[in-house]
Amino acid sequence: MTQPFLPFTRPSIDDDTIADVVAVLKGGWITTGPRVASFEQSLSDYLGGRTVRSMTSATGGMEMALKALGVGPGDEVIVPAMTFAASANVVERLGAKAVFVDVELRSRNATPAAMEAAITPRTKVLMPVHFSGLAVDMDGVLDLAARRGLRVMEDAAHAIGTRYKGRLIGSFGDVASFSFHANKNMTTVEGGALAYADSRLTIPLERERFHGIVKDAAGNIDIETAGGKFNLTDVAAAVGLGQLRSLEAFNQRRTALAERYAARLASHVDTDRLPLPGDGHSWHMYPFLLPLGDLGMTRDAFIAKMRERGIGLGIHYPCVPAMSYYRGIGWNPANFPIAARIGAETVTLPLFPAMADSDVDRVCDALLELLPR
Ligand SMILES: *Cc1c(COP(=O)(O)O)cnc(C)c1O
Repeated sequence: MTQPFLPFTRPSIDDDTIADVVAVLKGGWITTGPRVASFEQSLSDYLGGRTVRSMTSATGGMEMALKALGVGPGDEVIVPAMTFAASANVVERLGAKAVFVDVELRSRNATPAAMEAAITPRTKVLMPVHFSGLAVDMDGVLDLAARRGLRVMEDAAHAIGTRYKGRLIGSFGDVASFSFHANKNMTTVEGGALAYADSRLTIPLERERFHGIVKDAAGNIDIETAGGKFNLTDVAAAVGLGQLRSLEAFNQRRTALAERYAARLASHVDTDRLPLPGDGHSWHMYPFLLPLGDLGMTRDAFIAKMRERGIGLGIHYPCVPAMSYYRGIGWNPANFPIAARIGAETVTLPLFPAMADSDVDRVCDALLELLPR
């Protein structure tokens, strides 16, 4: 019996959501309008009343937010060496410098102590990344920022629905950036949102998001800054509204699947190879570290063998300082040994809400068959 291919992730979009997308498309107003307003309001309600602005991607949102926080040439932003490259790229795009710090092996998160050691007189912002939906030590990060006069922009791309000590990420702190890319815990196809405390960020963010346009009472426009173009569409927001209704259920299902992986794998592999569980984890991914030394094959060959068995694996992520651009400006991954190890050994196992328990078993059977005993 051949089973259907199991990808490492897949979005779940219900019929009510699809019906609403059709209604928007038939309604005549398809770009930014009432659905975007209602999506932002719903996100704000979910995040305990925080100010929320949506945009076309988290990458765009992070760049807009850092710019609104005053980051520019000569400034430094502290970024973990284990993250998606967008976290660092947005800093570089503003002419500022991404300063990398190493992470912990099982949580894949940077500690406040590691961030503190990287602070220089040029440091302006700390960028914690809640890797795979496990919250960073936010009390430690916010305390460090307060002591050193820094801003905090959380890359919460993995962390919609993540809780830290019972509080949702994005419902406290300084600025948090969520991604609604198709692979994330909820999607708008492409999209993102910023949730923040300081209402003075709203005007610069709105100008940056939509051409720098300001309107007078009669509707005449003026341009006060050379803004960009990052506004979400009502079609995308209709998808997001449907996803937000299902988010808690999605994340509960992700958690149950992650627990099943841990239960199946714990007695067969070193604990170090499994991701750290934790209260409030939203389980965006289930990363696993391959024992490359004893495996008898490369990671690429392992991924190909899993694919032959109908199972798709991802790689999240290569160590960012190992990328050509970052090497070219002087970074050396050897200075981030844990992130470099994760970057070399990691594979992402399939994890998405529509998976059955038997899919986890199928992945574990294939994995254990290929791993050394
Ligand atoms: C997905 C992701 C981003 C970028 O999100 P987009 O919405 O695709 O721009 C940024 N940081 C991390 C850690 C991500 O996983």
